[in-house]
Amino acid sequence: MILQKNDQYAVECQTKVSQRCLQNGEYCDSEEDAVLWVEYECWINSGEGWICTTCHEKIMNNLVKKRYQKEAEPKKRDPDDGLNSDLEKGIDTVL
Ligand SMILES: [Zn+2]
Repeated sequence: MILQKNDQYAVECQTKVSQRCLQNGEYCDSEEDAVLWVEYECWINSGEGWICTTCHEKIMNNLVKKRYQKEAEPKKRDPDDGLNSDLEKGIDTVL
């Protein structure tokens, strides 16, 4: 995830999912400085690489949206459906 150009190093954004993605951090004299730069800019260390703040924001938004859709989905169906069949099954077993 480290870019190298003319003996200068920059950390590359891992995801680049945002249209406003910075693509990479500032070019520095060493890899360490490049990492320090993104740390200072509050980029997120994913363990495999670095994610710039704009991309991280977008990822988090997508996660929240997905979670919301998941929660909303069962409500579209008749919420009683599953309960009733479970109840009937239970009654059958008891009888
Ligand atoms: Zn990015």
